[in-house]
Amino acid sequence: MMPAIAIYPGMRGSVHLSELPVPAPGPTEALVRVRRVGVCGTDRELIEAKLGRPPAGLSELVLGHEVLGVVEAVGDAVRSVKPGDLVTATVRRPDGCPACQAGQPDLCLWRQYMERGIVGAHGYMVERFAEDERYLIPVPAALESVGVLVEPLSVVEKAVRQADLIQTRVRSWAPATALVLGAGPIGLLGALLLRARGLAVVVVARRPAPNPPAAIVEACGARYVSVQETPLPELVATLPNIDLVLEATGVSALVIEAMGAVGNNGVLVLLSITGGTDRLSVPANAINRDFVLGNKVMVGSVNSAREDFEAGVRHLAAFEDHWPGLTARLITHRLRGFADAAMIEERAADGIKTVIEMRDED
Ligand code: BGC
Repeated sequence: MMPAIAIYPGMRGSVHLSELPVPAPGPTEALVRVRRVGVCGTDRELIEAKLGRPPAGLSELVLGHEVLGVVEAVGDAVRSVKPGDLVTATVRRPDGCPACQAGQPDLCLWRQYMERGIVGAHGYMVERFAEDERYLIPVPAALESVGVLVEPLSVVEKAVRQADLIQTRVRSWAPATALVLGAGPIGLLGALLLRARGLAVVVVARRPAPNPPAAIVEACGARYVSVQETPLPELVATLPNIDLVLEATGVSALVIEAMGAVGNNGVLVLLSITGGTDRLSVPANAINRDFVLGNKVMVGSVNSAREDFEAGVRHLAAFEDHWPGLTARLITHRLRGFADAAMIEERAADGIKTVIEMRDED
């Protein structure tokens, strides 16, 4: 048996240590020894019983969907990874819908998919897991310190890829100015990605600088603005046409403000999974009119495809070239193995990304 960090979905604050049998990899699977797992907003929502479902027939769900591990053994038919390789793994597993059948579970139509560590399948906060090689993405050894960020980066990669796909409608699409709302891991990775692509980037967040996210924003050549100091409409009035907006605040009032910020021919990509039942009074005529007259697009984007993980690996390497050591500064808190499991409920005041070190030796 081996230890795992699990919850009882639907029961608030039910984080506990569990035990699972060590899996035996099938012919197309690898056995992966987990090295590090990231904790994200979704995990906190799972702990607060706002979402989540255990695997069929079970009452507990092992958490964790941002993983870096080492391949320990492979089945006979495995070709793409070998023992010793560092890997991460995708999150979503397909249902039988047309989009999944076409190889795009991240665009699942029926929403009956499983997501490891979130709905219907155990996650990666465990000593070892077995997974089909189709869902494993090799990570170069040089990226060991930041490889756990490939999954959240893949979510941003998909968002930007969606924008580029949509913008094939605009023959002159050459985005120059981007607004990123939110300075959590998704917002910061978005800022790095768009800066690496050469855009002028403004990151908008609640807290005034100085603070750790603002320092990262400034180090990559982007600008950090606090909405407590400059309201969004006031900021937008001083900027050139905003070609791309990534919304990752988790606050629905800002989602609405973002609709007023996106520029002509621009795209607003929504990434916040907002809980609750808030209702807002909004300037509906103005929002609609500007969307129509400005040919604007708003799109939701969730999860990510294998190609987004692969792009994430490439871009993490590019980030190291541009700004050595900067990406690792997103990891502000480290919990030690299974002993600190209960602490994943806590959100540190100045923290960006918490990771759990899952092995004590080496
Ligand atoms: C994960 C996605 C997942 C989404 C919804 C996010 O935290 O990164 O892969 O699709 O939660 O469950």
